[in-house]
Amino acid sequence: MDLNQLKVAVVGAGIGGLALARALALRGASVTVLEQAPEIREVGAGLQVSPNGVAVMRGLGLDQALLARRPVEARAVSLRDVGGDEVLRLDLARHAPGQSHLCVHRADLIDVLAEGARAAGVRLRLLHKVDAVTPGPRPEIVTCRGARLRADLVIGADGLHSRLRPVLNPGAAPTFTRHVAWRAVLPETGTPAAEVRLYMGPKRHIVTYPLRGGTLRNLVAVEETPVWTEEGWSHAGDPERLRALFSDFGLDVRDLLARVETVHRWGLFRHPVARRWHGEGTALVGDAAHPTLPFMAQGACLALEDAWVLAESLAEGTDMASGLSAYQQARQGRASRIVAAASRNAWKYHLSLPPLRRAGHMALRLGGRFAPGAMVRQFDWIYREDVTRGARLAPSLPMVAE
Ligand SMILES: Cc1cc2nc3c(=O)[nH]c(=O)nc-3n(C[C@H](O)[C@H](O)[C@H](O)COP(=O)(O)OP(=O)(O)OC[C@H]3O[C@@H](n4cnc5c(N)ncnc54)[C@H](O)[C@@H]3O)c2cc1C
Repeated sequence: MDLNQLKVAVVGAGIGGLALARALALRGASVTVLEQAPEIREVGAGLQVSPNGVAVMRGLGLDQALLARRPVEARAVSLRDVGGDEVLRLDLARHAPGQSHLCVHRADLIDVLAEGARAAGVRLRLLHKVDAVTPGPRPEIVTCRGARLRADLVIGADGLHSRLRPVLNPGAAPTFTRHVAWRAVLPETGTPAAEVRLYMGPKRHIVTYPLRGGTLRNLVAVEETPVWTEEGWSHAGDPERLRALFSDFGLDVRDLLARVETVHRWGLFRHPVARRWHGEGTALVGDAAHPTLPFMAQGACLALEDAWVLAESLAEGTDMASGLSAYQQARQGRASRIVAAASRNAWKYHLSLPPLRRAGHMALRLGGRFAPGAMVRQFDWIYREDVTRGARLAPSLPMVAE
């Protein structure tokens, strides 16, 4: 299908929306992104972008611009017990050479994608909250100010609380997963190891890694809790309460938590992977289609993959309907498998019965000792997937780091 001059409206300037906007604009479409926020700005938080996500950034010509922001390339993932002793070391440098696992500041990724979208001619409209989307031959958007817009194609890239998702999948509201994530970014002291550390405790875990050339450190602490009583899903948290919650963890973790001055709490909500990813002239990408627990660190990477595959499926389809259907066909199975793997990790990380925990950790230790390469390669189906198959839509866009 010829995308030249196709009028596309993308709802949401997050990772999926911005990546898709650039991918479509580079193929000739006329793209407008509608974002509810007053500016394209991100909370202080880190993200792991694994090789499958990096492949999409390369395909979009944005890999060099991202590297200019000095993400830290993780050489290993170290799983530790509650006291801080290493249970399993996944040596990425040795067993997955040439694959980039980047620890990125979320604001840097969003900045690079937004710059990339603008450079491809995308119009970004801020303070444009979308209230409703109606599928049809010329789908319609109603903004919260009452304005009505029409396009040839409308994309819901508006995250967990998508406006389009329930129109295509009535009756499925997000539910609380009984997990709360505490997120903080701290100034780094000293020279940090280029690795992701994950500390596993009963019903809780902590993930931490360096960012921005090792000048910052990202911290995500997850606790299980039966209810989320607050309104909304993100709030300022109390650092003292965070320290109390993880006071039985080892010295490494307690030292880290002692440095936390500002922290945010996120109720982790989910709904099942959408049954329908598209309707007439409409489609969903990213969390709008398949929000996941963050325990495989894949939500943003999946959103990047969706963006690439949707643009390509439309370009290769004979018409819009066949392109949209090919997109869902290509993505639904993979997204569902990754969402399920992330949910299983919640259980594995949080084992609370001591005999079960000892047995689980022993199995990891033995795997690391006798089959360290296989322990890394078990994730090949996630990380080695390159949805671009080495293609590039544009030459690398270099940008000067701030
Ligand atoms: C604690 C935690 C850690 C994580 N770690 C990782 C990680 O390491 N690696 C990884 O790959 N993923 C990670 N994720 C997941 C990742 O953050 C999400 O999956 C990803 O941001 C989804 O991108 P998206 O573009 O679909 O949605 P979002 O990033 O949610 O963007 C949606 C955008 O739409 C806008 N919007 C919403 N509603 C409207 C509306 N009505 N009108 C206009 N605009 C609207 C929003 O303001 C936002 O800008 C983590 C998530 C959490 C909670």
